[in-house]
Amino acid sequence: MTTPGSAAAGPRGRAADSHGQAAGPRGQAAGPRGQAADSHGQAADSHGQAADSHGQSADSHGQSADSHGRAAGPRGQAAGPVGPAALRRHNLGLLLAALREGPASRAALAARTGLTRATVASLLDPLVADGVLAEVTAAPSGVGRPARPVSFAPGSPVALGISVEVDGLVGCAVGLDGRLTGLRRLPRDHRDLSAEAVAAGAGEFAAALAAGGRATAGAGRRVLGTGLALPVLLSGPAMDPLVVRAPNLPGLTGARPAAAFTGAFPGPLVVGNEATFGALAHTDVAPDLVYVSADVGIGGGLVVDGGVWRGARGFAGEIGHVVVDREGPPCGCGGRGCVEQYAGRTALLRAAGTSDLDALERALTSGDPRARDAVHRAGSALGVGLASVVNVVDLPVVVLGGTLARLVDHLLPAVREELTQRCMGHPPDRVVASRHHGTATVRGAAEAVLAEVLTDPDRLRTPA
Ligand SMILES: [Zn+2]
Repeated sequence: MTTPGSAAAGPRGRAADSHGQAAGPRGQAAGPRGQAADSHGQAADSHGQAADSHGQSADSHGQSADSHGRAAGPRGQAAGPVGPAALRRHNLGLLLAALREGPASRAALAARTGLTRATVASLLDPLVADGVLAEVTAAPSGVGRPARPVSFAPGSPVALGISVEVDGLVGCAVGLDGRLTGLRRLPRDHRDLSAEAVAAGAGEFAAALAAGGRATAGAGRRVLGTGLALPVLLSGPAMDPLVVRAPNLPGLTGARPAAAFTGAFPGPLVVGNEATFGALAHTDVAPDLVYVSADVGIGGGLVVDGGVWRGARGFAGEIGHVVVDREGPPCGCGGRGCVEQYAGRTALLRAAGTSDLDALERALTSGDPRARDAVHRAGSALGVGLASVVNVVDLPVVVLGGTLARLVDHLLPAVREELTQRCMGHPPDRVVASRHHGTATVRGAAEAVLAEVLTDPDRLRTPA
């Protein structure tokens, strides 16, 4: 497996000097935002060195992303480019990251990145020729030659994001411009399936998505790779992680998805935990936040300094298994009284006495007392669990995803009440629903692929 964490550790705004030193904890360099080394390998700032906020060069860990989405935190600084080829890739990555914010002229890109106009042209023109980028026709303004903004071409390549859920598959394509296309869902019960059977079904689903059809607006576009989200704990070396635990998909325990799933999907595969990918899809909400996603179970991700922090071994963020009652109901993790046993979809529907979320929403709307009690209990458990998280890590924003986002209006009063009562310092400034309507995981999975492409933008060139 490769590095979902690199989605947050991508080249955006990361300055690097000719010594290959990267920027500090928040990706800030001593110079202006997005400043880059120029084509001669010289740093743009007058000192020739990027520096973090303490005036030091990149930290001694210098590590790049690992398999669990950890690249992006304070210690996750990737080393900068070394040598002309690496520098060219780095600078092209910076330009493409800048273009992800919208069409821009070569002059504007030069100003934004600190590169010379000639360098910008030499880096981008081959991609225009390849049809990855296109020149937008701009209305002439004033005197002189009209600017010709560059943007991603309408038919430019896409990344696929596929999420294996307990009882279904979700997939989408995301363009270089960040636009999601071709969203598909397919009911499929994975609970009793082996890793191979899960891989075969998910691969078929991905292939259909890539091949197109009426439902896929991304049809026919080249696929740069696939991000595969699994609701499991992953550990081990970056290229070949091991499924350590899969409480809701026992057939995956002990599997090595990089081996079991590679070949089943279009392009190189990036495997990651579903909540890690979901958190990655929200790094634009705030640089520091807690993301909680609920499906059958509950997962979570801690976004710190703009990247997902996965802990020393990749297991951080398991908010669903924060204990709120030691004598509570048994949980798939082996413990008792975990948040998931109150606010996970299965637990919630059982407590409410409804068969699915639609029925639960109807019951809530009609004021059904059992449904209201179940949702209040879920909100309280979630609030208690989140208060513990916030007391330990002091993150000021909470984003609720998946089932929780759908029920946010009903859950929020109890969540807020517990947070206000139990947070020692300050409760979170904001508790908000994900705006991705259940697509955060697949967006994040596809974005993880795109982030890898930005660190190796030659993948965009049409294969000979
Ligand atoms: Zn548990």
